[in-house]
Amino acid sequence: MRALSKLKLLRPPTSDEQLAAMRKHVRDHATDRPGVYRMISADGEIVYVGKSKRVRTRLLSYFRAAFPEEKGARILRDAECIEWEYVPSEFAALLEELRLIKRFRPRFNVAMKRDARNYCFLKLTKGPAPKFVVVRGAGHDDSSAYYGPFLGALSVSEAVRELNDVLGLRDCANDQRMHFADQPELFEIFPRTPGCIRFEVKKCLGPCVGGCTAEQYDERLTMARAFLDGIDDGPMERLRREMEQASERLEFERAAVLRDKLKRLEALRAQFARLRFAVETLSFVYTVPGFDGDDRVYLIRRGCVRAERSLPRTPAEAVHLLGLIDDVYTPAQHTNGQIPTHEIDELLLLSSWFRRFPEELDRTSASGTPAALDAAS
Ligand code: SF4
Repeated sequence: MRALSKLKLLRPPTSDEQLAAMRKHVRDHATDRPGVYRMISADGEIVYVGKSKRVRTRLLSYFRAAFPEEKGARILRDAECIEWEYVPSEFAALLEELRLIKRFRPRFNVAMKRDARNYCFLKLTKGPAPKFVVVRGAGHDDSSAYYGPFLGALSVSEAVRELNDVLGLRDCANDQRMHFADQPELFEIFPRTPGCIRFEVKKCLGPCVGGCTAEQYDERLTMARAFLDGIDDGPMERLRREMEQASERLEFERAAVLRDKLKRLEALRAQFARLRFAVETLSFVYTVPGFDGDDRVYLIRRGCVRAERSLPRTPAEAVHLLGLIDDVYTPAQHTNGQIPTHEIDELLLLSSWFRRFPEELDRTSASGTPAALDAAS
């Protein structure tokens, strides 16, 4: 993969003649309306995807880059043609740009960084003895489980470390070798010393050293997931019991440590509950005026566009849309804290959009029946 991109970088830069031809093409054909565009190299690679409220102005700006090291100039030197499509609005352009970036992964696009600085997620790794890691957004790994979004990567990392300690979950390197107690040793004798001290101080079940069976580790993991889903207080009850027992044994120092941990977990639970609520609030019907009257209705649920239609102009179209609204919003709301990987980028994008333009919320209807439908009925 690395070798391939090196080869692509060695491609000769686009000639001045070709650049002039591309510029003329934009001048002659592009108009100022919302759209998405693609910069395509001589061998057909989509090297960049962009969007704009005014496609023509935006595309012509690339040709005005003053210095060759500017990003726009570098993209053009790698592209041999520009293609674009119009969409009804800036919002539609944002959505389409995101979809194209996810599909083609152009190398000049700094992938999906919107709002990623504000949020983080908890990702559950795959493989034997999965563990939680704090990440800024979804990678290309569609099968991992993600929880969130959360605000404040640092405090989430600390809270997760404590959740790991309480439940004995591992937090070591991905490639740490696991050896469960019920795992038969076939040809290789694994060293029976843990990769870290956490097993010795009872903060990890020690799946690396035969300290637990795969089932025992899974049970603790299920408990952690249920906690993050907001449906189980198991970890806190466990700590509370330990704290009470320590108090009864007059081990006040230990009881105080457990009390502090309990507080952190309570904070994590409260934080998680707050942010889960934030995701739920991104559920509404959003009516967006479009270029030349191409108005659209977006059915957004849990931070994702579930369906999109033209704004109805006739009673029959209105009835059809109401049926669709029913389909999208009626099924029981799934309330766990898990976010499907493929929805994370869109959730971040929508969250960013409504944070930047809070007045757009006036065009939304939480009731599921947009006011604009009245005109058609
Ligand atoms: S005890 Fe083993 S499994 Fe647990 S964190 Fe340390 S190295 Fe990882």
